[in-house]
Amino acid sequence: TTSTPRRPADRSKVYMADLESALHYALRVEVARFSVLTGEQLRALKYFVAVLAKYFPGRPFVQNFLRSVDRWLRNVRESRISSSALELVLTNRKEVTPAVLSNNVTWVGCQGSKLHFRGYPCSLWTLFHLLTVQATRHPVSPPPPGPLEVLGAMRGYIRSFFGCRECAQHFEGMAVKSMDKVRSVDQAALWLWSRHNRVNARLAGTETEDPEFPKLQWPPPDLCPACHGVVNRRHVWDEAAVLRFLKAHFSPANIILDYTE
Ligand code: FAD
Repeated sequence: TTSTPRRPADRSKVYMADLESALHYALRVEVARFSVLTGEQLRALKYFVAVLAKYFPGRPFVQNFLRSVDRWLRNVRESRISSSALELVLTNRKEVTPAVLSNNVTWVGCQGSKLHFRGYPCSLWTLFHLLTVQATRHPVSPPPPGPLEVLGAMRGYIRSFFGCRECAQHFEGMAVKSMDKVRSVDQAALWLWSRHNRVNARLAGTETEDPEFPKLQWPPPDLCPACHGVVNRRHVWDEAAVLRFLKAHFSPANIILDYTE
């Protein structure tokens, strides 16, 4: 059937089930579509997994999983890896150190009113917002990789692997225009927030919009009253308030474990 039970979700929370589903889908479905990885794709995968191993605030089994995949990728000396070799590494290991990631997807905060709405793209945005915010908690991030560490990983992942190629082109267009103007980890979190709002504005009212989850300029006033202001009768964002809100919303303390196994 095409219907799944509705899982009630609170918009003011982030759900670990969505984040873990994003990891599963990104690594075991999207990356796995390619039978051999070389060059830019291999670099993008290594970079993405390195950032996940460093910043993903996962449950212990999931962190073990990400670290073991990262270790393996760092040790790859060949210029190519096959999907079958990668698949072995992405298999859950329960024997010595449990390193486990759920083998299916469960959408909660990202559940759509129909199966073709929301889901993976929603969880991928959520994951990358969370990672940009996590990076702001490491204030002494050394010059290389610098403030673009997480955004660079996102850009590479989207360019090499994101199945929605039209989305990838749009995102690359925004990245080319202004990503390299980002000078700090705080600006990186705000850059992604403002670009996501541009996407929301572009998609509002189109057929990709779930009628039960209309595209908003986010966060709406009921989630963050302090984020909104009016100057000369025009709406303005209070970016300092937005940054504070992003840091609270995408913090480990705001992640709910409901519906994880
Ligand atoms: P999403 O937009 O996916 O947002 C997920 C959640 O993030 C929201 O529920 C909200 O909690 C939070 N959120 C919303 N806005 C912000 C913000 N500004 N800052 C921080 N958090 C926020 N679809 C297309 O049809 N065309 C495209 O060109 C396109 N480009 C995309 C590019 C990227 C990189 C990605 C990841 C997705 C893209 N998509 C595109 C998919 C689209 O953006 C949505 O992900 C999809 O339509 C599902 O929307 P949603 O309602 O679940 O909310």
